[in-house]
Amino acid sequence: MTSLASRPLLGATAFSRQQPNHAWLAQIIRAQREGRSCLPFQLGLDARDYAALIQAHFPQWSGQTSAAQGSLAHECNELREELLDMRRDEWAELRALLLDGRRGSDRDEVRMANIVAAACLGGDHLWRDLGLDSRLHLRELLNHNFPRLAVRNVQDMRWKKFFYKQLCERDGGYVCRSPSCQHCPTHHDCFGEEL
Ligand code: SF4
Repeated sequence: MTSLASRPLLGATAFSRQQPNHAWLAQIIRAQREGRSCLPFQLGLDARDYAALIQAHFPQWSGQTSAAQGSLAHECNELREELLDMRRDEWAELRALLLDGRRGSDRDEVRMANIVAAACLGGDHLWRDLGLDSRLHLRELLNHNFPRLAVRNVQDMRWKKFFYKQLCERDGGYVCRSPSCQHCPTHHDCFGEEL
């Protein structure tokens, strides 16, 4: 089987510029297959939606399964799916938060919300857990898909912390142990660089 890394992406740079989600999704899928993200094989999507995503964007990759990645990767994938299922309520809250801020012009926004919410459950910076190249790319992805949420991160908080802070302000119970960021003992965790 030809590896994803050696296959050309559908579409050229100009196409990616017109449809940036296509390029981001390609990167996210490739990183997952190469073990460079926290996402399970289906990226946090259900089987039908994942198949529809592949069919719509990358038909040349259809038919590939996690088993084809090798037994170790397959086991790792199953573990990630289980972990996601165990935290499904948290995932759903993050997904709802993202969708509340969506642009509303592209059906891939919903898929991207599912994927970003799944990546929020990983242990690294969000851009790494998604398999993107940089925090800048993450900001572009969020600005494109969820502009009404992204624009509220005026203090440039770390994105996961920012999302959980939004949930905290809605319902309480997630992040903040201090009434103000200025006097918070974990300030650096929320506002430090994401390298
Ligand atoms: S710095 Fe402290 S108070 Fe501010 S968002 Fe982070 S945890 Fe909450």
